Amino acid sequence: MNLSQESSLASNDFVLASNPQLHEAQQDITDVVIVSDDPALWPISFNERERVDIVKKGPTQVKQINFKADKSGRRFNTSFYTRVLANGEEVSRSWLVYSIQNNSVFCFCCKIFPTRKICLSSTEGYSDWKNIGSSLKQHDKSQDHISCMQKWMNMSVNLKSNATIDQNLQRMIENEKKHWRLVLERLFAIVLMLAERSLPFRGHREQLYQPNNGNFLAQVELIAKFDPVMLEHLKRIKNKECFDTYLGKDVQNEIIGLISRRILKTIVSSVQSSKYFSVIMDCTPDVSHKEQLSILLRCVKINQEEVQIEEFFCGFFHITDSTGSGLVETFLNLLAEYNLDLMNCRGQSYDNGANMRGQYKGFKL
Ligand SMILES: [Zn+2]
Repeated sequence: MNLSQESSLASNDFVLASNPQLHEAQQDITDVVIVSDDPALWPISFNERERVDIVKKGPTQVKQINFKADKSGRRFNTSFYTRVLANGEEVSRSWLVYSIQNNSVFCFCCKIFPTRKICLSSTEGYSDWKNIGSSLKQHDKSQDHISCMQKWMNMSVNLKSNATIDQNLQRMIENEKKHWRLVLERLFAIVLMLAERSLPFRGHREQLYQPNNGNFLAQVELIAKFDPVMLEHLKRIKNKECFDTYLGKDVQNEIIGLISRRILKTIVSSVQSSKYFSVIMDCTPDVSHKEQLSILLRCVKINQEEVQIEEFFCGFFHITDSTGSGLVETFLNLLAEYNLDLMNCRGQSYDNGANMRGQYKGFKL
């Protein structure tokens, strides 16, 4: 924080402290409570939010400064921060706070909790340095002060226990995140294994522990036999503790899509590093009579002295227009999506389809 920011904060405190209405309005607008360390700049009365903030912050006891002397040369001394009992024992007066602004002292708890107004909780504070010793002793024993001290201590304890609850909650959230990440890791591994072997995912049924429920669910059940993470996941599903099972067909397809995009990205980066490439395309209807275009990219890979021709299958692309222009659009979209330059395409290979000829709506580029 630079000096100008500090001074603007200090003046802000002063304006807020001297004008409670403005203070409330400001708080509504910004929703930020600014409480100064100097008790003379505190508001005349505290609302609950400010009280919580200042109790969290705790009292600040000014020590290493030259305390200002009054007309008779008397001044505040840091020894007043300590109370000496009759048996010689020293007890900290943690409630005693000095204001540089007013050259006076305040009682932290009597100031922030509503009580009968005395000098130590007034706007000006206490600055009778001649009698401060006896006044503090008297204040130590006063019923109002003791009651405010109790309120302060109770609030501190409650705030600290809330912090502990927050920490526990945070730990629970982290554990939960870890659990779901581990579940997803296992589901990705299953999808990869089945896809690599071209095995079907789904069966006649889509419920766990049912016969013929397909390879995907069978693998999930198998892993749960030995793995505590998957066992926990299935236990939650069984007990209806979670509504997102991540085992449905849509999630399976989404994982396949994610993996395929990642693989395609690797293929493209390999083709890009080779610069020149050729394309092999073929069109055929699948079992559901949808026209599917398969696209393969070929490039030459040179690793040190070794030269290799590499061929990558990029996937099946569903097309609605099987004329040459429909196919070229699909191909150009693929090139644009993966930032491949058509000018580097040095070879084209097709089946003997008449629609691939360059005349009219042909594909041949
Ligand atoms: Zn007090």
